[in-house]
Amino acid sequence: MSVNEEIKMEHPRYCPNCNGDFKGKPIPEKCRKAGHYGPNPDTHYSLLIGIETPGYDGVSLWKCPFCHHTWNRFYRVDKVA
Ligand SMILES: [Zn+2]
Repeated sequence: MSVNEEIKMEHPRYCPNCNGDFKGKPIPEKCRKAGHYGPNPDTHYSLLIGIETPGYDGVSLWKCPFCHHTWNRFYRVDKVA
């Protein structure tokens, strides 16, 4: 899933609303060494949900799997602009 590829690039560890921990199960060594998760793979999967919206190719929103809080991945950029 492309959503998972986006998540491992840069994702928050904790929910800003409920402080839930998104750290998931360990990624098997075999998969990490095979390069499925990039040159510097994370050690664990993330439970964080990435949402794609029309108009941008990639994850635009994050959603917490625990409390369903949704927030903009680019909120810092939006504030600067
Ligand atoms: Zn949450």
